Amino acid sequence: MSAEIMSKNKTQRNKRLERERNTLITMIGMYCKGNHHGETLCPECGNLQEYALKRLENCPFAEGKTTCAKCPVHCYQPQMRERIRKVMRYAGPRMIYTHPIQAIYHILDGRRKAPLKRQKNSLNT
Ligand SMILES: [Zn+2]
Repeated sequence: MSAEIMSKNKTQRNKRLERERNTLITMIGMYCKGNHHGETLCPECGNLQEYALKRLENCPFAEGKTTCAKCPVHCYQPQMRERIRKVMRYAGPRMIYTHPIQAIYHILDGRRKAPLKRQKNSLNT
């Protein structure tokens, strides 16, 4: 039974990662198409995508992680972080129309508490 649970957890972890991966690819694609007007990803956005996916692979919080934009571990270089934020600001609202299910998951994942011991809420009370 425990083996069953473990494999289930593993599947969920992979699903979560897979979802974030797809969201990143979708968002960067939308951003590039809307701003750089190419048929395929331009080299700059291709770089960003490669970078983002690599960071995701190495994410220590893979399971139960919030979205990268809200993650407390700043594993992105500042410059890349600024770029991915720009992408998300652009693609986020548009995704609700073009990829509603993905967008909803992204919002839900973003609402997860950051996996930190120190919580903002408990500091304020
Ligand atoms: Zn581009």
